[in-house]
Amino acid sequence: MYDKTNIFAKIIRGEIPAKKVYEDDNVLAFHDISPACPVHILVIPKGEYESFDDFAAQASADDIAYFFKTVQQIANQQNLQHEGYRILSNHGSNAGQTVPHFHLHILAGKKIAGLVPTE
Ligand code: 5GP
Repeated sequence: MYDKTNIFAKIIRGEIPAKKVYEDDNVLAFHDISPACPVHILVIPKGEYESFDDFAAQASADDIAYFFKTVQQIANQQNLQHEGYRILSNHGSNAGQTVPHFHLHILAGKKIAGLVPTE
């Protein structure tokens, strides 16, 4: 059951502030409050999806395609396509998901060592 009180739902509703970099009717992107890289942007659909698994299972093919097209456009608007960036999404507890609203991280601005954190 989607938790409407999660922090990203509050950001979508404008109840708490975020440093937005992109917004349209379906997608919102904003800077992570605790950046893990010099550039750390979170991209979320405005629909109520708990995680990647929920989004991939429940959203329409058009909505999924639109979301990922928009992620690419946001990365390009930030001029990240030349030096490169990483996108990732944590689903569930083993991956360390802390906010139960589907989000993609865009990480950039330095060389990112290793595929998986070792700590
Ligand atoms: P997760 O661990 O669920 O994959 O990622 C959640 C991310 O949300 C973390 O990187 C965390 O720093 C970020 N975050 C948590 N609360 C807030 C907030 O209130 N505002 C913003 N902008 N980011 C947040």
